[in-house]
Amino acid sequence: MNNKELITELKENRIPDKEDLKQLLTSLTKEDEEFLYETARKVREDIYGKDVYVRGLIEFTNYCRNDCTYCGIRASNKNALRYRLTREEIMECAALGHELGFRTFVMQGGEDMHFTDEYMCEIISGIKEAFPDSAVTLSVGERDRETYQRYFDAGADRFLLRHETVTPEHYSFLHNGKMSIETRLRCLNDLKSIGFQVGCGMMIGSPGQTVDNLVSDLIFISEFRPHMVGMGPFIPHNETPFKNEPAGSLEDTLHLLSIVRLMLPEVLLPATTALGTLVPTGRELGILAGANVVMPNLSPVSVRKKYMLYDGKISTGEEAAECLEALSKRIDSTGYKIAMVRGDHSSLKK
Ligand code: SAH
Repeated sequence: MNNKELITELKENRIPDKEDLKQLLTSLTKEDEEFLYETARKVREDIYGKDVYVRGLIEFTNYCRNDCTYCGIRASNKNALRYRLTREEIMECAALGHELGFRTFVMQGGEDMHFTDEYMCEIISGIKEAFPDSAVTLSVGERDRETYQRYFDAGADRFLLRHETVTPEHYSFLHNGKMSIETRLRCLNDLKSIGFQVGCGMMIGSPGQTVDNLVSDLIFISEFRPHMVGMGPFIPHNETPFKNEPAGSLEDTLHLLSIVRLMLPEVLLPATTALGTLVPTGRELGILAGANVVMPNLSPVSVRKKYMLYDGKISTGEEAAECLEALSKRIDSTGYKIAMVRGDHSSLKK
């Protein structure tokens, strides 16, 4: 089958097979590429129209107990300037965001045990009580099921936990030999069965990643059926063992965004900050490849440079929440439009 036929089949919900996916990831011509993006846009428009959902990102701590080899805030980076926001500061971020029109707040951070279950739950329920019209998304890494359940009972709606790579040896390589894919998958399954809208995903072009790894990730995504998929290019950080590794490619990232859109038509798919860091128009290109979410930064300006997951991470330009108007113009330029709503997965709409 040629690539256009494969793309059409994917759109018609045929279960993808490994060889087909491998072909798509390695042999797209410019013309195939255009067809892929166009087909992905059609599918997203059937479900979400021209709306682009926005999420206010609150990076509330960069303390982390883990040592992910790729990540700038890994525990063994002694040069990272560590900070954590107080509950009051987090509430101020949310209040500012709500005022600006945000209706989803994403609390993202390292795995920082200073935030006990009790403290986290106070913060979550505090946001939900102050802003009952808004969703709270957590992106705080691995916990036991009981803790996830407590977060959910406190009112958290969604949870982002990228699986990073479903291939065990690659997973171990990316996590300094200290973490396991089994635990990650246990977390994802717990989150889903508890009732969260769940996001998984992976970096594109991470060190050691092969096309076969990516194919396995796609198969995993098609089987797990997450509500959200976070994918952005790997970008090296100069204080990590991967400092000399090349960044992931723009084209590969865009292809994967489109393929995931076709495999899961209803998925909430962000055009990530990493994509916007790799190239200045990255997020617009992501939208044009089928993404339907952007996540501007709501963290206090004073801490933004400290949440450096990778070199050059954009944080003070138009991606910042105060510059919503500028971001909105950028999105307009793609023919899509920012929608200041909660933006749940379409299966949850009445
Ligand atoms: N600690 C939480 C959330 C923070 S990291 C967690 O692990 O889920 C959020 C995401 O940033 C990670 O899942 C990873 O995919 C991405 N990331 C980290 N370092 C990166 C890098 N060097 N380049 C690109 N993305 C990176």
